[in-house]
Amino acid sequence: MGKLVMGYWDCPVCGSKGIAGNVMNCPSCGRARGDVQFYMKNVAEGESREENERGDIEYLSEEQAKYVSKNPDWYCSFCNSLNSDNAETCSNCGASRENSEANYFEMLKKKQEREAAELAARPASPAARTAPSSKKPLLIILAILAVIVGVFVYLNGNKTSSDLKVSSVGWTRIINIEANKQYSESDWNLPDGAELVNQKQEIHHYDSVLDHYESREVQRSRQVVDHYETYYTYKDRGNGTFEEISHERPVYTTEYYTETVREPVYVQVPRYATKYYYTIWRWKPERDAEASGEDHNAAWPELNLAENEREGQRREEYRFTVEHTGKKEAPVTYRLAESAWRNVNPGDPIFITAKRSGADPYISDAKGNKIADLERVR
Ligand SMILES: [Zn+2]
Ligand SMILES: [Zn+2]
Repeated sequence: MGKLVMGYWDCPVCGSKGIAGNVMNCPSCGRARGDVQFYMKNVAEGESREENERGDIEYLSEEQAKYVSKNPDWYCSFCNSLNSDNAETCSNCGASRENSEANYFEMLKKKQEREAAELAARPASPAARTAPSSKKPLLIILAILAVIVGVFVYLNGNKTSSDLKVSSVGWTRIINIEANKQYSESDWNLPDGAELVNQKQEIHHYDSVLDHYESREVQRSRQVVDHYETYYTYKDRGNGTFEEISHERPVYTTEYYTETVREPVYVQVPRYATKYYYTIWRWKPERDAEASGEDHNAAWPELNLAENEREGQRREEYRFTVEHTGKKEAPVTYRLAESAWRNVNPGDPIFITAKRSGADPYISDAKGNKIADLERVR
């Protein structure tokens, strides 16, 4: 059993404050104490204190402690006043303790439950107030989304230009010419057909190889228990007094120590291989032969090949240019497949359909139905 500390109570009838826990009737209005909660001066209930912080605790003298009961006070069922565990009848109205239905703690618990229920029922109104204001940003977000979707649908839609006329057609055909020449090269392997000039041992790559271990001292720390200290908490006994309870807890200190770690040390070891220096004859692109025209007479260029030359890759391009008959806009040139290009003639009206976003144009009929793919020449 810890030392007893004096508790205090406030009179709920007249509002008198700080009445000592061993006083059963309010000194101002004379009412027997009823619906109260005991508290300590300078310490809250359950608060913990260090050993050296207890100077302002108001302990009961040994003489006072003798008269304090072990158990909490009981409530009189008739007049609702608190009575000492030592009393068998109500000091206020004389009713028997047998009819008592609750002690100090049971009554306090009921009161706290009632207050919690009231608190839970209350915040309905502030929540209702915030609801309409949260709808506004949602409407703005929906409107922005609608605009974004609308712009996307519009740009993704097709637009057929109906005022276009073919102003010219054109073509280009190119044959690349490759030349067979001797090159000086080096490599780790000698390719087929190469003529070896020289060969040397050279560094091919480096390997990391474990050489040795090095020991190193590392400073480390750890928390260790230095000593134990006493601290106190205070418990409402429900009869106008509090009990001081002592506890022990460890106090830690930082301990430093050194640890030896072994770390590997690597060396970079060069690995040699044979490198070949050689000459080799290779076919490589040398020049272009090009033919072009502003008509439909597409033809491949005539080739005048030297002795060490041959025909390489072929490229071809078929174009036409359109002008707007109405608006003053710059002419546009398109590239397309040869078979479709054969059907495009200068002076012809033409329909070109494109996404409004500017991508993927094609030749169409007046309604926008695709006839041939196009690619705009930039
Ligand atoms: Zn009073
Ligand atoms: Zn009573």
